Amino acid sequence: MNVNQLRVGIGHDTHRLEPGRPLKIGGVEIPHDRGLVGHSDADVLLHAITDAILGAAGMGDIGELFPDSDPGNAGRDSSEMLQMACGQVAEGGFQILNVDCTVFAEKPRLTSFKRAMREHIANVLGIAVDCVGVKAKTGEGLDAVGQQQAIGAECAALLAKLEGH
Ligand code: MG
Repeated sequence: MNVNQLRVGIGHDTHRLEPGRPLKIGGVEIPHDRGLVGHSDADVLLHAITDAILGAAGMGDIGELFPDSDPGNAGRDSSEMLQMACGQVAEGGFQILNVDCTVFAEKPRLTSFKRAMREHIANVLGIAVDCVGVKAKTGEGLDAVGQQQAIGAECAALLAKLEGH
């Protein structure tokens, strides 16, 4: 691989929690009495990753690619959106090297789901599982995360711009 440039990107997202909705984080369905609200399937982690990857490539953000004013994006699978963003950066001559993420959730405890999230993300990005980091933090009972009103996520992505692009 002949690399011209390394590019780092960051992504951040927050979604509101409401009772009686499915909870999907990192493409993994997690049993819980509340779920995330959003125009798409509201997968907060996949949205942060999508933004980090697009940002590293200088290709805007998830809202530009998939506007919530478009009814076609309602209930949309976030894995599909991430996959499309990956296709776009690949076309621009970028290769994703690794992503590292943190999910901010008071409840449920995510420890037992982290491996499945990493595997799902690695699969969508087409990289090895050890190139995907997923960490979980609580809000220590403070703020919207700590009060279980929201779940947040952050991601850093490293991309290589390949020679000839
Ligand atoms: Mg979002």
